[in-house]
Amino acid sequence: MRLPPRLDRWLRSARTWIVLGVLAPIGMLVISGLMLLDLRNDAWATATQTSRNLLQVIERDVARNMEIIDLSLRAVIDNLSAPGIAEISPELRQLVLFDRAATATDMGVMLVVDEHGDTIIESNAMPARTLNNADRDYFQAHAKRADLGLVISRPIVSRLLGVPVVVLSRRIDKPDGSFGGVVSASLKLSYFSRLFENIALGTSGAINLYLSDGTRLMRHPSVEADIGANIAGAPTFERFRRDGSGLFVGDSVRDGVRRLYAFTGVGTLPLILNVALATHEIEAEWRTKALVIGLTVLALCGLTISLSLLFGRELRQRALMQVELSRLSLTDALTGLPNRRRFEAEMARAWNGPSDPARPRALLVIDADHFKAVNDRHGHSVGDTVLIGLARCLTASVHRPDDLVCRVGGEEFVMLLPETDEAGARRIADKVHAEVAKLAVVPAGIRPGAITVSIGLASTGPWASDSAGPSDLYRHADAALYEAKAAGRNQTRSAPRGSEATGHEAGWHPIGAT
Ligand code: GH3
Ligand code: MG
Ligand code: MG
Repeated sequence: MRLPPRLDRWLRSARTWIVLGVLAPIGMLVISGLMLLDLRNDAWATATQTSRNLLQVIERDVARNMEIIDLSLRAVIDNLSAPGIAEISPELRQLVLFDRAATATDMGVMLVVDEHGDTIIESNAMPARTLNNADRDYFQAHAKRADLGLVISRPIVSRLLGVPVVVLSRRIDKPDGSFGGVVSASLKLSYFSRLFENIALGTSGAINLYLSDGTRLMRHPSVEADIGANIAGAPTFERFRRDGSGLFVGDSVRDGVRRLYAFTGVGTLPLILNVALATHEIEAEWRTKALVIGLTVLALCGLTISLSLLFGRELRQRALMQVELSRLSLTDALTGLPNRRRFEAEMARAWNGPSDPARPRALLVIDADHFKAVNDRHGHSVGDTVLIGLARCLTASVHRPDDLVCRVGGEEFVMLLPETDEAGARRIADKVHAEVAKLAVVPAGIRPGAITVSIGLASTGPWASDSAGPSDLYRHADAALYEAKAAGRNQTRSAPRGSEATGHEAGWHPIGAT
């Protein structure tokens, strides 16, 4: 299939391949960069969604359980003031006060404590075990203020159960409004650890539950020091407290790990819950992919660039080689002059080109005299040296850039002289004879004047017929050369004017030898 010339030229140009070789990798880099960015965004979107979902599920569970416990506390308070409750038997009173919530798996103990901190009624024991909780923070808080509502304690070790718990408590008011004690329910911290333990968050992910004062109730995964630690004042915690709920990336005060924090309050309780995924784990999978894709793309880009540079270089070398080959194919190897092929091409061009046929043009055909004898006497290589010298003499005889000197045969040369009339051509021929007369090959004993040439001259101009073509001009010059040889050599003969139309029988007129 033949391509349109412009496309073909474009495809063969080294620059095309170099430009393509650079643009293609840039395209690849841009596309894979965008793709990687998209993958990274996906990873973050997934992490965000996962955190939010987890947060919601955990928050609902905690809020629901706390609410149930609080409802039980309220029920105890309400029932304590019910008429006749003081009169019924302790067994019956225990049944009335504590509902089934008190028996849930992670529920600790529900207690009714009087204003001195002494346990009056206990959900798990009948009669209540002797215990004073007057030293507990929540007890003292309720004793001081009547309007606290539900108080959630810091994590403490239960005196009755011996395990870590948080205590939810409400104040009991006496009929006159003074402090009448506290009703409390302990919730084992195991409730939170069981709730969190099956959630996979990677090795650096975490779930935290804080009191609104910054005390950590539970962390998953946790070490002992985490429970009860207070992180109030940490930038992350201050943001939890300020915004209520949301999502941000921050550095942990606990371990310095950068995490994506999704956080929320828990119902209306004074609790803050967060799910935190380590950013390096969010991006871990993406990083591996990015590394593989990035390295592959870079390798491909490198390969593409190298191949196109190589290809471009090959194309350029080929183009240079073609130029050199075509130069060589038009050059005579011995003298370095243009050869017969170049001469014929130039002749054809001169006649086919846009040049004005009325403008003069001359041709000299120059042949070394008795050159065979030079070879025979001095050897072929000296003959070669003489030919090189002759070429130099001819070149020295012309000065216009458009004048063309060629070696068209063994010891035969031509000079194509555009814009030159017969008189001008004769002057050049004289110059050639003069130059050749100076030619010597001293080592071979060839002295100046030993080498001579015969020259046939033909010219064309306004006088020539329209049909006169390049072969006519050459034929006439060659015939004139023949005449010069016949007339004794070392001279120039000119083809008569009008011979283009009439042929060379029209007669020759010699030009004096120089
Ligand atoms: P004339 O004056 O009639 O032209 O005689 P001539 O001996 O020059 O002509 P002829 O055609 O008989 O011989 C030409 C000689 O040129 C024959 C050949 O050995 C020699 N010749 C042709 N090409 C080369 C070449 O490349 N190198 C050398 N050294 N000699 C060459
Ligand atoms: Mg000769
Ligand atoms: Mg010859």
